[in-house]
Amino acid sequence: MLIDNHNRVINYVRLAVTDRCNLRCNYCMPEEGIGFSSRNELLSIAELKSLSSTLAGLGVDKIRLTGGEPFVRKGIMDLLEHLAGLEGLREISLTTNATLIGPHIPRLAELGIRHVNVSMDAISPETFARITRRDYYRTVRENVEKLIEAGLEVRINFIVLEGQNESDIYPMMEFQREFPVRVRFLEEMPFNGGSKDFRTLHWNHKRILEHIRGQYPDFEKLPAPLTSTSVNYKIPGHTGSFGIIPSFSRTFCGSCNRLRVTATGDLITCLYGKPVANVRRELRAGLPESEVRQIIRQAVGSRAKDGFEAQERFGPIFGSSMTSIGG
Ligand code: SAM
Ligand code: SF4
Repeated sequence: MLIDNHNRVINYVRLAVTDRCNLRCNYCMPEEGIGFSSRNELLSIAELKSLSSTLAGLGVDKIRLTGGEPFVRKGIMDLLEHLAGLEGLREISLTTNATLIGPHIPRLAELGIRHVNVSMDAISPETFARITRRDYYRTVRENVEKLIEAGLEVRINFIVLEGQNESDIYPMMEFQREFPVRVRFLEEMPFNGGSKDFRTLHWNHKRILEHIRGQYPDFEKLPAPLTSTSVNYKIPGHTGSFGIIPSFSRTFCGSCNRLRVTATGDLITCLYGKPVANVRRELRAGLPESEVRQIIRQAVGSRAKDGFEAQERFGPIFGSSMTSIGG
């Protein structure tokens, strides 16, 4: 079992399988001039499989594949087949923009993948195109409905972006009234590849909730596991539910159970910190699993208490793009 230096059990890993993406969301990446890692630096599918097996052996029981966009990575289904066969993994999930997932949905359901988080920051096609700088709204919407039909649990991630998608908040609430999804409203973080000057967060979690209350005054708080990053609510009579994630205010660090691995094998023990180790060399050289285990244990053994301490320890971190970190 992995236990950090603050006595928190680490049983959840977010594994970025690529830093590339077919969208260019303006809060995540600049339009051009993105410093992607070279292909050779990315962990191969075989290395990702080996790392996942090691993690499962260390007591990790939940792995989420993210990116970049996981479905631009060749071999992603092969990796998922491997994960589905790993003993000890209780949950395999995905975070995706849902542009390319369509043909894979039946197999995902067969593999027992139950949870898919879809980033969808607008319900109006024009706003969606403005934010993502690509014209994929219809595909995403269709794929969300296909995921629901296939019986997968869909969570929509909607970042509240000042001056961009506030008028889509209520229509998004209507979406969860109609469909069995959980819409999670996130605070924006200044990870945007340096494309924007970010000084103040106007849409913090309190303001988002008050805005929702303005139109939907009757909601009940839902019970949530201690490790949940979202505070979730249900409106009587609505099919779905909604939640709020204070990603920038970071009120959830005390129960953090996660480790992030980037597509190049960096280990990140706090979203607000920097990589503390890398396992690519060991994986590539085929060194004994015990060496990879040791690196992971050491990284987990020196975690910051919370995102504020991590930021102090590592200095400015928001100059990069979320696409290398995986959200
Ligand atoms: N491409 C996939 C997607 O968009 O879902 C997975 C990778 S994306 C980097 C993972 C998550 O990070 C998404 O939910 C996205 O909304 C979130 N994200 C990216 N940039 C962000 C930012 N500046 N602030 C808050 N969340 C961000
Ligand atoms: Fe791509 Fe996801 Fe970043 Fe959008 S948020 S640019 S879909 S990695």
